[in-house]
Amino acid sequence: MAKNSTTAQFIERRERLLGPKLDLFYDDPVHIVRGEGVWLFDADGRRYLDCYNNVPHVGHAHPKVVEAIASQAATLNTHTRYLHDGILDYVERLTATFGDRLSTALLTCTGSEANDVALRMGEAVTGRRGIIATDATYHGNTTAVSQLSSTRPPIGGYTGQVRHVPAPDSYRPLGGESGDAFAAAFTREVEQAIEHLQGTEFGFSTLILCPYFANEGFPDLPGGFLDGSVAAVRKAGGLIIADEVQPGFGRLGSHFWGHERAGFEPDIVTLGKPMGNGHPVGGVVTSSDIMAAFRNAFGYFNTFGGNPVSCAAAMATLEVLQEENLMQNAYDVGGYARERLDQLAGKHDMIGDVRGAGFFFGIELVTDRKNKTPAPDATARVVDSMRENGILMGRTGLNRQVLKIRPPMPFSRDNVDQLMSVLDESLSSLA
Ligand code: PMP
Repeated sequence: MAKNSTTAQFIERRERLLGPKLDLFYDDPVHIVRGEGVWLFDADGRRYLDCYNNVPHVGHAHPKVVEAIASQAATLNTHTRYLHDGILDYVERLTATFGDRLSTALLTCTGSEANDVALRMGEAVTGRRGIIATDATYHGNTTAVSQLSSTRPPIGGYTGQVRHVPAPDSYRPLGGESGDAFAAAFTREVEQAIEHLQGTEFGFSTLILCPYFANEGFPDLPGGFLDGSVAAVRKAGGLIIADEVQPGFGRLGSHFWGHERAGFEPDIVTLGKPMGNGHPVGGVVTSSDIMAAFRNAFGYFNTFGGNPVSCAAAMATLEVLQEENLMQNAYDVGGYARERLDQLAGKHDMIGDVRGAGFFFGIELVTDRKNKTPAPDATARVVDSMRENGILMGRTGLNRQVLKIRPPMPFSRDNVDQLMSVLDESLSSLA
């Protein structure tokens, strides 16, 4: 679609001030000026149903979170080198949501920083530096963490410190259709990566993964899928980092944390995105012995991490999540959404696969079901057509062929009905 002159001027100004190659959603970008609950409003007052944003976890501009931020900002904001209850009260409440062993936390401002710290915890404990990640992941943008992504290699190439294993794809499972064979094939890849790293100067330190494989296209995995990999890591004396930046804080409906749903206990958990409902808060949760090894090896201070305003935002977010039973809402309404998507799959041949849980689900589009040929162009067209019709969603997956639906947690059945009816029309118009 041709962009109007205001949008073109906006884009020119962005590029001039911020530089080129900045991601911008939609062929016809949206100029958002306000958010409320599950709704976003553009500069012309048009309302969009937000089916994409997981950061405003308990809803855009939730009054309780806004009030907590404002009142703490009006009282005190400083760093963590003074005694203050805010961080202690929050960490106490946060760690109560984990198994007994994960009892300490360190607060950061982003998920990237959290993962960076987690990798250094692995180094402090094991004395080694080799890392395993999937070949379709994203864990952030620091120099160290960006090396975990295989899409944008560092200048001069990879150092050999990171070994990538093929991301699990439940629609085209490595090893075959049986769940056991699929899991065994992934385990074998992890075992080989461990062995490879053990033969290098780096040795093997940590396996880092999102327990929901969110950036890999959130495959539907059989129960116990990661058991073999976890056992292989433990046998080699390595640590497991669960990056909960996307699946955490109840988003998956059935469990508060993605690793609980996947059925393993990590050594280190990293947090970000939804933690402060949009206020920049991230964190690393681990055992007291791992935290002590890290502090002893590296110390750590983060000027903004854990400040009283961030802790007030994070505390209010957690309280609202629990008071408003939003995890249960994700379970109930997310389950209903999946049923509705399954019905759509019966009607539209373009839908190759329906997958996901809670409020993190979507569909993979294909050009033909038999060969499961990815349809990234059609996926882009659906996303744009939905935007034209007042619904904001995104796409992901190896070929960006998966429609990603990941709304704020107060999403309702009525919201699902609206989403599905517009999606039905969009798919019909493209067929
Ligand atoms: N981990 C995962 C799984 C992510 O998806 C992201 C961001 N998309 C990050 C870490 C990085 O978080 P941040 O942008 O807050 O640094």
